[in-house]
Amino acid sequence: MTDDLDLVPTAKQSDAEDPRPARVARNSHVHNLTVVEVIVETGDAVSLVFEVPETLASKFRYHPGQFLTLRIPSDQTGSVARCYSLSSSPHLDDDLVVTVKRTPDGYASNWLCDNVSEGSILTVLTPSGVFTPKTLDVDLLLIAAGSGITPMLSIAKSALISGAGTVFLFYANKDEDSVIFGAELAEIMAEFPDRFTVTHWLESERGLPNTRELSEILAAYSHYDTYICGPTPFMDVVRRALADIGMSDAKVHIETYRSLTGDPFADIVVGDVEADGHASATVELNGERVRLEWPRHTKLLDLLLSKGYDAPYSCREGACSACACTVRSGEVKMLRNDTLVDADLRAGLTLACQAVPISDDVDIAFDQ
Ligand SMILES: Cc1cc2nc3c(=O)[nH]c(=O)nc-3n(C[C@H](O)[C@H](O)[C@H](O)COP(=O)(O)OP(=O)(O)OC[C@H]3O[C@@H](n4cnc5c(N)ncnc54)[C@H](O)[C@@H]3O)c2cc1C
Repeated sequence: MTDDLDLVPTAKQSDAEDPRPARVARNSHVHNLTVVEVIVETGDAVSLVFEVPETLASKFRYHPGQFLTLRIPSDQTGSVARCYSLSSSPHLDDDLVVTVKRTPDGYASNWLCDNVSEGSILTVLTPSGVFTPKTLDVDLLLIAAGSGITPMLSIAKSALISGAGTVFLFYANKDEDSVIFGAELAEIMAEFPDRFTVTHWLESERGLPNTRELSEILAAYSHYDTYICGPTPFMDVVRRALADIGMSDAKVHIETYRSLTGDPFADIVVGDVEADGHASATVELNGERVRLEWPRHTKLLDLLLSKGYDAPYSCREGACSACACTVRSGEVKMLRNDTLVDADLRAGLTLACQAVPISDDVDIAFDQ
């Protein structure tokens, strides 16, 4: 299908004063994709299979554990944006698959489950997220509840196919009928009997898992790299159990599911260099060093996107850390920060989607 939204060119020049004026720019991360299949996974979860045209293949490359952001039409607000983890594996699957579970009284998840069918066209942002193993050649402990299984399936398949370690998955659900990917997980276990183990926990049979029970199950894996995704109370119990078995915080990665409140699909507006005044920014991104005039009231991410630079981001509201970058020198201020903790700030991290300049010269690097 055609994709008519990608109007911003990718920057090519290196280490040069950027010559292009910036006002309002289309968002180069926004694309339309066709749903080629809808798979009913359980009574309240479906998988949406997206075909990626050859022309967009490089933009939609992803790492296991990353997510897509979908635009869902709304009579009240025009649209809402929601993130959905990719359950497909970039090491195995041609198409991109997200899996959506109905949230009781939720707007977007029910809209997607009720309205999307084969041939539907959805507007999405390119893949994003930092909940992804740096290497697949390590032993992995994956802990999921409910729809938290989606990034785990992608990580597990990728690690088993392209990595060398073993994978232990603990997967909690309300009851047998709510287990997503039950048959697929059993098949993968049969294919990799020495490297992949799944322990299911059904609330209907055993109640909610408590810290002691989890500690007993997880004790053998305290040296594994660990990924957790599920409802907040579940993740709290899991974290206490991991602390009890002596797992270091550095090994623990958490994905928190929440609904976005802003509009990451919106066009980008940047201030006027003359009217607002500006700082000088040097930004290292995707192996390039660029120099930019940074209008005082413009967020760094908006500036970069408006110039066509392919900066990473997801929520554009200071709530995820997909756009995190390091201030090497100079000073910036974040207009909002709901995700970076004190240790991150001490390390010089900032959120590009919220950072405006304070000092006259700022040097910033994105770690790729
Ligand atoms: C990185 C990431 C990955 C994700 N991956 C997945 C995934 O793979 N699969 C998946 O199913 N989900 C995933 N999610 C969650 C998903 O993005 C949505 O948050 C989820 O589908 C609920 O959205 P909704 O619009 O249906 O619910 P919402 O309408 O946002 O409602 C959510 C809850 O808030 C309540 N609520 C809504 N409005 C109000 C209000 N005004 N006042 C009080 N309460 C209110 C609702 O009753 C409901 O319980 C992910 C989230 C993130 C951030």
